[in-house]
Amino acid sequence: MTAPRVLVVHGGVPCRGEVRTPGEKSISHRAVLLGALAEGTSVVHGLSDGADVAASLAAVEAMGAGVERRDDGAVGVHGGRGRLHRADGPLDCGNSGTSMRLLAGLVAGLEWETELVGDESLSARPMDRVAEPLGLMGATVVGHGERCLPPLRIGGGALHGIDWTSRVASAQVKSAIILAGLSASGTTVVREAVTTRTHTEEMLAEAGADITVEPWGDGRIVTVRASRLEPVDRTVPGDPSASAFFVVAGCVVPGSTVDVAGVYSGPARLGYVSVLQRMGADVTLLPGVPGTVTIRATAGPLHATEVGASEIPSLDEIPALAVAAAVAQGTTVFSDVGELRVKEVDRLAAVVTMVEAFGASATVEGDTLAIHGVGGPLRGARFDSLGDHRMAMAAAVAGLAARQGGRSLVTGFGAVETSYPGFADDMRRLTGVDAPRPLLVAIDGPAGAGKSTVSTAVAEHLGVQRLDTGAMYRAVAALALARGIRPDDAAAVAALAASSVIEVGELVVIDGVDVTAVIRSPEVGQAVSVVAANPGVRSHLVQRQKAWAAEHGGGVGEGRDIGSVVFPQAQVKVYLTASPEERARRRNDEAPEGVARRDRIDSTRDASPLREAEDAHRLDTTGRTVEDVVEEVLSWL
Ligand code: C5P
Repeated sequence: MTAPRVLVVHGGVPCRGEVRTPGEKSISHRAVLLGALAEGTSVVHGLSDGADVAASLAAVEAMGAGVERRDDGAVGVHGGRGRLHRADGPLDCGNSGTSMRLLAGLVAGLEWETELVGDESLSARPMDRVAEPLGLMGATVVGHGERCLPPLRIGGGALHGIDWTSRVASAQVKSAIILAGLSASGTTVVREAVTTRTHTEEMLAEAGADITVEPWGDGRIVTVRASRLEPVDRTVPGDPSASAFFVVAGCVVPGSTVDVAGVYSGPARLGYVSVLQRMGADVTLLPGVPGTVTIRATAGPLHATEVGASEIPSLDEIPALAVAAAVAQGTTVFSDVGELRVKEVDRLAAVVTMVEAFGASATVEGDTLAIHGVGGPLRGARFDSLGDHRMAMAAAVAGLAARQGGRSLVTGFGAVETSYPGFADDMRRLTGVDAPRPLLVAIDGPAGAGKSTVSTAVAEHLGVQRLDTGAMYRAVAALALARGIRPDDAAAVAALAASSVIEVGELVVIDGVDVTAVIRSPEVGQAVSVVAANPGVRSHLVQRQKAWAAEHGGGVGEGRDIGSVVFPQAQVKVYLTASPEERARRRNDEAPEGVARRDRIDSTRDASPLREAEDAHRLDTTGRTVEDVVEEVLSWL
């Protein structure tokens, strides 16, 4: 299941029906890690299919645990201390802070050095809160700078128990210490003034660990000793944070009734439901299998409320609630939400940008976020997730909350792979709007019209790939010349096109030869139009160009026949032109006669000549800035 890179959302389409969110993430991570430590085979049903949990799975596999994906969808983890060994390389936690912090605790108890790395965003997230207690237990934890940024090098081994009082409410930090405590001599005690997620304690107790929990004011004291873990067969309930998106959609899109079934109902995880209820939303909890609920949301008017961070301890549901607040009448205030700044992105800033794009407004003062709702439908907007899965899903819901006929475009939507790869499919099921076709943009025009520059910028804006089809024809021409085949030897050149492997990206490579530079030479410029007029060559290359779009889930194609032949189904077709003088100036690497000759051959050949597609937007780029042209192209989406 691959999520689309760009999601087109139709405003005001009601959501009706039932969905199940992916397995709860925190439980999924712990099921994997405890499975690696347990002596035997643990079976996990309903494991989260997101990239974060996949990172934890890959990490334990790299350390020697066996991972088996079963036909019934369950995952088997063959674990045990005797199986675990030093990984061949660093353990890649990707974007997952949970993987890194929990693994830090786990590997601290193993007698070798382990390196934990993450993506760019994770590499900017402080790890000092786990490094300090693990250090006190006897591990060496080395990161960058004062706040111990990843990559982390953790030298584990002989740990001893500590008595640690958490300074921040963090289940990840607590869990890291507890996991290390499983290998430590003596007793490890973690005191938390506020109770955070309790999965680690509960799941360890199930696995037979020597662990006890006692109340401590509003919080708890967890005591753990070195233990042998038994394998457990478990079903992971649905993720409550993920449920917030469709529950909010059910509340804000007129005419909607949504059931989100099988949602984990553990303590403090459905605080967002109480917030929505205070806003006047019709949301009810129906009992499900033990430990789970079905959340039913029916649309109706909403009004503002005040939300304290303690209601939503992880703050994960704030992006979804922000959409409800944007639709509500009045100003909804979220206090103490400064921690949002250090999520996958600065989520506080991202929420403000999103809310404003969709037509409401927001202000931030210190750690307080105020959203001034519009008291009704939003407007369609374009929004980029910046790679943050929760922002991508929140924006999709905001798009649904736009007035009927309003269309929204969420770029960087692929970020949902982190936690909810099937989000778009579930959304389609609820709205009944057919799977949108992959987004395709076709950009055609003569040499020097600005196709490369414009298509590159449009692809970048949309977060999709660009295909330079001209480079493919040029590559075939270059290879023909290199092999001494005459460009007008139709049969030989067509055979070459049929048999050669062409890659066009940053580098252009044909049959393993890097031709990036040579395809821009005058010789290739001379030959290419003749090669491209060859119907045999065209049929092979067009077939590959179509396959490219299917493989990449859409994209931006540029060339001569993209709108007419290659992607006739493209949502946006652009025919770029420019004055002859301007085109000549832009092609200053090529003699004007050469360009003119190429254009003449390209537009007069029999096989799909350069021609403006009937439904193309014609755009004269003479004297216009790139930004201006790109903005106009994007407006046609
Ligand atoms: O885009 P570029 O100028 O690099 O294209 C080089 C040549 O490739 C064009 O002059 C044309 O002959 C051919 N071409 C084509 N069909 C395309 C793209 C390029 O015939 N879709």
